[in-house]
This record gives sequence, structure tokens and C-alpha cells, in this order.
Amino acid sequence: MKIQEENEFDAIVIGSGTCGATIARELSRQKKKVLILERGANAALRETFMGIATIADQVFLGDDKLSTVRALTTGGSTSLYFGVVNYPQDDTFRKVGIDLSKELDAVRKELPIAPLPDSLLGSQAIKLRDSANALGHAWKKNDMLVDVTKCGAGYSYDAKWKAKSYVEDAVADGATLINRAMVLSIIIEDNVAVGVEYRIKKSMFASEVKRAFGTKIVVAAGELATPKLLRDSGVQGIGQRGFYCNPGYAIYGLIPGLNASSGFVGSMGCEYEDGIELGDANIPQSLHRPMMLGGMKLRHLMGFSDCIGIGVKVKDKLGGRLKDDGRFFKDFDNEDIARLNKGKDAAIRILKQAGAEHIVDFGLTAAGRVGGLVSIGEHVDHKLETQFRNLHVCDGSVIPDDMRGTPTVTLVSMGRYLSKHLLTAM
Ligand SMILES: Cc1cc2nc3c(=O)[nH]c(=O)nc-3n(C[C@H](O)[C@H](O)[C@H](O)COP(=O)(O)OP(=O)(O)OC[C@H]3O[C@@H](n4cnc5c(N)ncnc54)[C@H](O)[C@@H]3O)c2cc1C
Repeated sequence: MKIQEENEFDAIVIGSGTCGATIARELSRQKKKVLILERGANAALRETFMGIATIADQVFLGDDKLSTVRALTTGGSTSLYFGVVNYPQDDTFRKVGIDLSKELDAVRKELPIAPLPDSLLGSQAIKLRDSANALGHAWKKNDMLVDVTKCGAGYSYDAKWKAKSYVEDAVADGATLINRAMVLSIIIEDNVAVGVEYRIKKSMFASEVKRAFGTKIVVAAGELATPKLLRDSGVQGIGQRGFYCNPGYAIYGLIPGLNASSGFVGSMGCEYEDGIELGDANIPQSLHRPMMLGGMKLRHLMGFSDCIGIGVKVKDKLGGRLKDDGRFFKDFDNEDIARLNKGKDAAIRILKQAGAEHIVDFGLTAAGRVGGLVSIGEHVDHKLETQFRNLHVCDGSVIPDDMRGTPTVTLVSMGRYLSKHLLTAM
């Protein structure tokens, strides 16, 4: 048996978000030697202004302030997410040769998934539901990745499942986690991926470039980082399809005497029409002031207990491009814009019906995942392997175009699916 050098691993996982954490955990459980390289720090997770500012990274998607957010930290974007569950449709994955059904069953058994009990719905969520229903919308509860036993009397950030817990399991089973380690490129020899080059931050001003070698390399750096990393490493055709970003609006109003309390965003909503989704956007109190201050909504800033919010998300078409320097540029066609306006009008009608005044929005934002740049069947095969042997991709960037819902449960299932394939080849 070959004795492994200190920087040689069975698998190197790039990024410790939902997929990276799942894969690292599955492989470590089977006693594989796993290295996790994570660009962010191992920050303590807190839903305070400072806690969020430390990990949140705003990524612009166009010239007109359109942007999205990700978290650069151990556990990735589940440190910031809302916990809303959508399930992968059988068809979506079968079409590209992937059967996720067993993995999905296992995920449903293991993770805390349930709709919220009525006792955890704030008065603003109930007002929104009643108003939407009165206007004929089928407003219903979503499943949530929330352990309701941890909620006590109300909203709890800690009750939301987070991928960081899987990283901790992996490390307990022997995985090596290196934080502040940003992978710069994949080392390819004779069309086979053999390692990675990464920059590790030593202090505010000092960094060092290092190499690590692995039998399997898994890129799980998230949809905003993976496409550029693949392209820089020589994977052909990345960036040529354009991308989608599920644009939308967060819209807020004030209802005097509402008596709002902190709630779980997205716990209820409906599919409107024409690829438009509407949902509850009532944020917890800890986020209310920073958000209203950031958007200069001064009348709403001090009015948390009167504030009611609704979100609009639209299925846009593939378009725009990933520029050479890695920046995104998205443009929308007239149909996308018409759908956005239609969704916004419907949302405002619901708020008005609820009795809201002083209705404001924060401008167009990417309300959901960015995708479409990496495609199963074109850039990776059904084992999520690229043209380079032993180089696999597993994260939000490879979800098929027609799955636009919230992805976390799908991503954990995909992480399990890929782990199974990797283990049979190790
Ligand atoms: C505000 C918000 C709300 C959301 N709400 C929901 C929701 O309700 N339900 C839901 O299912 N999903 C939601 N999401 C989306 C969900 O959190 C993400 O889609 C999911 O976590 C993505 O997982 P991932 O594995 O693709 O990547 P990520 O979780 O983004 O992880 C990627 C990791 O890779 C690291 N990384 C990046 N580049 C490098 C590099 N070069 N080298 C090393 N490491 C690198 C990053 O620091 C990060 O930790 C939300 C997201 C946000 C931001």
C-alpha cells in the first residue's frame, strides 16, 4: 500500500458549503482521507449585524446594481439562508441521467423538515396569508429546514439546519479543514486532475500559495465561484450558455397596530402564474434595522412592529455572460421585465388588501440562485465528472435549468449521490 504524504489526500473538497460539507462528511465516515479547503474563516455564526457583515459577500450581476449574496465561511450560504424547502422533481434529474430518489429519502429522514406550526407564524405572516387568500391566491405553508423543538416561544436562528454541522461531523471523523484557503486552480496532468493550488491567508498582509494533491478533486465552491474556477482550469465551454438569476423584489409596507414579531422568511407563499412566485418576506427583528437602514427606508426603520413584507421571484431566461475577469453581466428581455412588473403589481395588491401603507421596495435583486453556467451533459457527465478525469463538480452551479426552487435539500441529495460514486471508485 502506498503511504500518503502529508499533503496527499483521497479527496480534496473545494468549499465547505452544502455540497462540500455533505461530501466531506460522507467520505470521512468511510475513513477516507479528506481535505476541505474553505475560502472563508471559521466564523461563529450569529444573526446580528456584525455576525452577518463578517460572512456576507455581495456579488454584482450587472451594471445596474443587480446583485446577490453568498456567505464565505465554514458551511457556506446556509449560514445566511432562510431554510425554505423545495424538492427536486424526479423528471428534472432523470432527464440528465441522475436518479436522486434514494438520496432524497435519506435526506428527508435525517434532516429536520416540516412546515411551521401556527404558533410560530407572526401576526404579519398571518395577515399576509389572509390577504393573499382573500384575493384568490393559494397561499400555503412551505416545508422548512427548521428544528421546531429549538424554537421555544418563537423565531430562532439556531433552529435552522446549517451545513456547518456536517463539516463538524467530517472533522470529527478525521477530515482536515483549512480555512482562509482560496483555491486558485486545479492541477491537471495528462487530462487527469491531480491536485489544487491555493492561496492561504496568513495575516492581513501576508499570504502564501500552496499545493495539495488528491485522488479525487471535487469543486463545491458555489455557483458564483465554481464556473470561473472551472474555466480557469481549462474546462471547455463554461460561460457560453448565459445564466439565470431568478430576479425579484422585496416589498414592504406599514400597518399601524400590526404587532409584528420575528419570523421565518419564506414560511408561506404561492406560485402565482407565468413562472412568478410570491412569498412571505417578513424578516426577523435583528435584520430589520440593518436592512431598512441599508435601503434608506427611514420611515420603516423604526417601525418593525408595523412592518409587513412580501417577496417576488421570477423565472428568467438564460442570458448575459460570465466575463473574462469572472464578473457576471445579466440582461433581461422584455418578457422577463413584463413578468417582473406583473409579479410586483400582484404583490402590491396583496399588501394593500392587508391594509398596508407606505409601500416601498429595494429595487430589483437576484432573489434566488444563479445558475445555468455549468450544465450536466455538456460540462459534466451524470457522475458530475468534467472532461478531466477525477475532477468533479457538485454545488448549485450544476443544478439543471428547470429546477428553480430553493436548492438546499437537492444539494444535500446531490452531495450524497456523488459521494456514493466516488466511494465505489476509491
Ligand atoms: C439570503 C439567502 C437566503 C437563502 N434561502 C434559502 C432557502 O430558504 N432555502 C434554500 O434551500 N436555499 C436558500 N438559499 C440558497 C442556499 O443557501 C445555497 O444555494 C446553498 O447553500 C448553496 O450551496 P453550495 O454547496 O452550492 O455552495 P455554498 O453554500 O455557497 O458554499 C460554497 C463555499 O465555497 C467557498 N468558496 C468559494 N470559492 C472558493 C475557493 N476558490 N476556494 C475555496 N473555497 C471557496 C465559500 O466560501 C463557501 O463556503 C439562500 C441563500 C441566501 C444567500
